[in-house]
Amino acid sequence: MEISPSAPRIALLPAVVRDQIAAGEVVERPASVVKELLENALDAGATQISVDLEEGGTRLIRVTDDGAGMGPEDLALAFTSHATSKLRDPSDLVHIASLGFRGEALASVASVARCQVISRTAESETGHRLSCEGGQQGEVTEAGAPLGTTLEVRDLFYNVPARRRFLKRPSTELGHCLAAVQRAALAHDGVGFVVNSDGRRAYDVEASMDFLARIRRTFGAELIDHLEAVNVNDGDLILSGYLGSPRISRRDTSRQIWMLNGRFLRDRVLSRVLKEAYRGVLEEGRQPVAFLRLAMNPAAVDVNVHPAKSEVRFRDQRRLFGFLVSALKVAVHETDMATPGESMLAGRARRLVREENPLQGKLADPGAGPQPESVVRERSGRPFVPGDDFISPGAVTQSHPANPASAPLQSSDPDSDPWAPTDNLQGPYLQVGKTFLLRALPDGFEIIDQHALHERLTYELLLQEVRAGKVEVQRLLVPEVVEVSRADRVLLEEHLESLSSLGIELASMGETSMMVSGLPARLRHPDPAGLVGDLIEVIGRTGEPPTASDVLEQVLHSCACRSSIMAGDVLSQEEIQALLERARAAENDQTCPHARPTRVRFTLSDLERAFHRR
Ligand code: ADP
Ligand code: MG
Repeated sequence: MEISPSAPRIALLPAVVRDQIAAGEVVERPASVVKELLENALDAGATQISVDLEEGGTRLIRVTDDGAGMGPEDLALAFTSHATSKLRDPSDLVHIASLGFRGEALASVASVARCQVISRTAESETGHRLSCEGGQQGEVTEAGAPLGTTLEVRDLFYNVPARRRFLKRPSTELGHCLAAVQRAALAHDGVGFVVNSDGRRAYDVEASMDFLARIRRTFGAELIDHLEAVNVNDGDLILSGYLGSPRISRRDTSRQIWMLNGRFLRDRVLSRVLKEAYRGVLEEGRQPVAFLRLAMNPAAVDVNVHPAKSEVRFRDQRRLFGFLVSALKVAVHETDMATPGESMLAGRARRLVREENPLQGKLADPGAGPQPESVVRERSGRPFVPGDDFISPGAVTQSHPANPASAPLQSSDPDSDPWAPTDNLQGPYLQVGKTFLLRALPDGFEIIDQHALHERLTYELLLQEVRAGKVEVQRLLVPEVVEVSRADRVLLEEHLESLSSLGIELASMGETSMMVSGLPARLRHPDPAGLVGDLIEVIGRTGEPPTASDVLEQVLHSCACRSSIMAGDVLSQEEIQALLERARAAENDQTCPHARPTRVRFTLSDLERAFHRR
């Protein structure tokens, strides 16, 4: 084609085409329409919202709300792009408190579907109706209507065949639509939601349901037993919700829900927060379950990053990250981490008693370092209220017929811990296969992996010593010489000083050997050669000094692993007793540092179930 130099080539696109381009970003599938319409209903202050779907929303999406409604003038502008009631001037963009603000959703949807809206405000006797098909807007007419708004979207992408082809089967689209409603329902207490699909009820929550009841309705009742409440208030930042115990971790992240000021988020920073909070208690490849709500000043976050508004930018990301990780870590360690075999009830009874008696650990073992339980209480800032858990006290009593769960709470006697080795529990312990310890409990028994437990305790003690800056060193009577490659010797030599701050005393002995002259005194059967091998591997792989926070954990794991009571050590009754006493005082004695479980518990009710007695 020949173009004459003077003919203009740039022209403004017609409004419909502009809206269709915008629709490409906002409207991907029926579920995106559902999300936008729900946000509008919520912004209008609705307390009851119903969603009707036909053929997974591809044929019809109808959202009815009892919110503020629109008068005829507003109605006339609703489908116009960049028309919004939620922003006035640029300064409003810095503190967006509503879910919508771009004034783009209805215009986009109407450019690729057949839409009709009927609405009435409280001030008006009659309602009004307006339709808009493929961007062609009709006239506003009067129509009888209840207070609020009904928005119908039919035949999505009827005029964009390329998009229509990408729609999946109705059942798949329905699944996405339901997920959109569920997210909204999880984020907004006080609002009731109903979904009907092809005339059948597909989901509902009542306005009166609280967050936990919504989680139960959405994800099922079994989950509820494995959640720990989180509630932290940092002045201008409030974090609340529930964390799942590692026992119910999953392969995917479908049960990780973050909400910020009522907005569902998909955010890489927040996923990293969870990963960090569960570090050491989740096995590789597992994803935690978490339902968390963040409330913060809208000015501290930029929601105008992405047209679908599901990504945000935090202004003080560093501080937020640190705050969230430390708050969540505390909650993670309060979840019930024991492995199937133990019922939730057992874990709970044990936890309650420990919280009641912060001194208990000290009584058990004065050498065990600071008392984690009391630290946990201070940090979480949450006053302990007996019975504030979501398990009914009735259920607890049932499983402890001879020992009502309320009894330990009233008693200040440290020995009232039902899991503590009281007289009738002081052995005999059975050691099986020189690896597992069997121990009777008032309400069942437990099997402990002696190596995994000892490894966890050694690790925690080492970590405490390193944090306190005083690792006790044991000099080896006969220093051990370890052969290494030239390159590895050079690598280790760079880090001799920081290794010595960890209690690992190394020196070069010529070209290809290192001498180990001291190791942390905590290590029971140290294996210097194995440890040096691990150090080379970890430092070589990460390229960071052994004291860097990520690397430190791995170095201490390896110390603990290379020195603990091994599977295969015969233990005396006294040694077993001492090991268990120390475990009582530890912050996390439920998993080894590699997140393998240290113990499996069987309660009476587990046994009854196994023998089909109930
Ligand atoms: P935004 O929500 O970003 O403002 P939309 O295109 O989604 O843009 O909606 C445009 C305007 O239409 C809103 O600002 C609001 O005033 C009005 N509106 C849309 N849906 C409703 C509703 N369900 N109830 C009351 N007003 C609504
Ligand atoms: Mg909107």
